[in-house]
Amino acid sequence: MNSLIARAVNQLRSVRNVAALTGAGISIESGIPPFRGKGGLWERFDPMEIAHIDAFLADPARVWRVLVKELKDIIDRAEPNDGHKGLARLEAMGILKTVITQNVDGLHQMAGNTDVIEFHGTFAWQRCTQCDKRVETRAVDASVLPPRCSCGGILRPDAVLFGEMIPPVALWRSQDVAARCDVMLVIGTSAIVQPAASMPIIAKQSGAIVIEINPEPTPLTGVISNYLIQGRAGEVIQAIVSGLEKKR
Ligand code: NAD
Ligand code: ZN
Repeated sequence: MNSLIARAVNQLRSVRNVAALTGAGISIESGIPPFRGKGGLWERFDPMEIAHIDAFLADPARVWRVLVKELKDIIDRAEPNDGHKGLARLEAMGILKTVITQNVDGLHQMAGNTDVIEFHGTFAWQRCTQCDKRVETRAVDASVLPPRCSCGGILRPDAVLFGEMIPPVALWRSQDVAARCDVMLVIGTSAIVQPAASMPIIAKQSGAIVIEINPEPTPLTGVISNYLIQGRAGEVIQAIVSGLEKKR
């Protein structure tokens, strides 16, 4: 076993309150393209511009056409991978308590994690801009854009767009979880988007061990995280789970 995986297994064995912070990297193996990496959707336009609330308000049909419909098609088909399933297993083992995710794909819940803080909301649901009614994205008919609610209002993703605030409850709960955990696993996030990227800093400041799982170093590496397990989320998390399942 890789020595850093063995180290993580030993540390996770001796604690009870573990939190995870996840980013787009954990869903890449489910076929959902990340933000900054190579390939797919995001290379064709600037997400900062198209996924901005001002762009949506100015031309909702355009944002639906170039962003929401395509994301809907990708997310409708996506299934949890070994990374999501491994985190659900860690919860079932009584080790992992809360997942704070920046992802909007709903895959942690689909895998079986029960306490998931959706820091950036969700694309799995749409919300009416007039009456606030929520509709499951899978059930939305996107043949006429933008789709509308039964009240006539335009539907928008129930996600946090650029230029919008993090839902206050998600922010407060995440800060609380970060301040109280013994270990924080930081998985598949470039740790650039704020304020999500400050959760590992809060954890570290409060005395937690911070373990990163990512094929690449991030701004946290060597500064905030105790160590980086370099590799793909699915493989690394499965190796950790198998290590924990073996007898000491
Ligand atoms: P990011 O795109 O900025 O960074 C992705 C990170 O994943 C990188 O550090 C990369 O090295 C790492 N990575 C690549 N392959 C990996 C693998 N197999 N296993 C583990 N890690 C891997 O992602 P971010 O930090 O989450 O920020 C992007 C923002 O865009 C988020 O706030 C999120 O709301 C949104 N977003 C969400 C999704 C989704 O819901 N799946 C997808 C794209 C973007
Ligand atoms: Zn409505």
